[in-house]
Amino acid sequence: MTKIDDLPIRDELRGKSPYGAPQLDVPVRLNTNENPYPLPEPLVRRIAERVTEAARELNRYPDRDAVELRTELAAYLTRTGGHEVTTAHVWAANGSNEVIQQLLQTFGGPGRTAIGFEPSYSMHGLISRGTGTGWISGPRNDDFTIDVEAAVAAIGERRPDVVFVCSPNNPTGTAVAAETVLALYEAAQAARADTGGALVVVDEAYGEFSHRPSLLPLIEGRPNLVVSRTMSKAFGAAGLRLGYLAADPAVVDAVQLVRLPYHLSAVTQATALAALEHTDTLLKYVEQLKAERDRLVDELRAAGCEVVDSDANFVQFGSFEDQHAFWRALLDQGVLVRDNGVPGWLRVTAGTPAENDAFLDAVRAVLKENR
Ligand code: PMP
Repeated sequence: MTKIDDLPIRDELRGKSPYGAPQLDVPVRLNTNENPYPLPEPLVRRIAERVTEAARELNRYPDRDAVELRTELAAYLTRTGGHEVTTAHVWAANGSNEVIQQLLQTFGGPGRTAIGFEPSYSMHGLISRGTGTGWISGPRNDDFTIDVEAAVAAIGERRPDVVFVCSPNNPTGTAVAAETVLALYEAAQAARADTGGALVVVDEAYGEFSHRPSLLPLIEGRPNLVVSRTMSKAFGAAGLRLGYLAADPAVVDAVQLVRLPYHLSAVTQATALAALEHTDTLLKYVEQLKAERDRLVDELRAAGCEVVDSDANFVQFGSFEDQHAFWRALLDQGVLVRDNGVPGWLRVTAGTPAENDAFLDAVRAVLKENR
């Protein structure tokens, strides 16, 4: 049988495995930071209507520039992000993973490097590799906040072309202060003055769940700063595949150089527009999830776990001598959480109150067994 490594694939892909959490069929699945609430029925019907309209024109290519969708996303950001943005500031793609890929194709690539502060979202490194961009693993403090001094020093020494700042950070839940982003931005511009600066990508996939305001206002006057967002989490639409960015309009123009023509299907655009019509209802679920997230933090601490403060729709908890054994013990109780390979720690996504109760019961039961 032919194996991948028998094929003439690129050297940097040899021996690597694809990204992906286990998709196991268990009663309580809290492992992929999805929103546990299905879209409300009125929205499902509105999607059907808008997709029906779009279907009548599927013989034609979709709007290549997704202007109506970008205009609605700009209105949403202006309303919720504390900063006015226009259609020209916004770009959309199939999930924020594709947004990140387009950014790396434009600003990274062979001979260039990107840095992230780990543990963080592993796809930043994997998409870097996929686009031929060298990956640099930067440091974090023991409490999972960014060590500003060490991060600034790493940027100065390694001189990356792209800097990733994930806020709130996956998998730790840690939000990053605006001053920290500004310090990293200044360091990155100084380090790469030779190329006109480095691109700083603030990944706000979980921005809506934060106790803190969005970092969106930081794009003002900083053409090398990008904020990326997604409809996968707060909008409860992971299956839709819709991510977007806000930045200086020049960045939006730049990614046009690498985007595939008609990358966002007419069905995707119609569905996302329908979801945006129901923003207020969807954001009410976000409020419920934030309250459940806070409850998970409190109850895990009460049960004797260590818990990292969370600004996301998930919580990193520990600390276990063997986190994988604890992960397996929870699975035996029918609860699937995520082992991101952070030694001693696991990550649980905030689910419905009933799912969270089941998870907390399982944690208490496993802790009791191990006592
Ligand atoms: N950024 C972060 C930090 C994430 O955790 C995720 C999803 N797990 C993404 C981006 C990508 O999400 P999507 O492609 O669904 O928009």
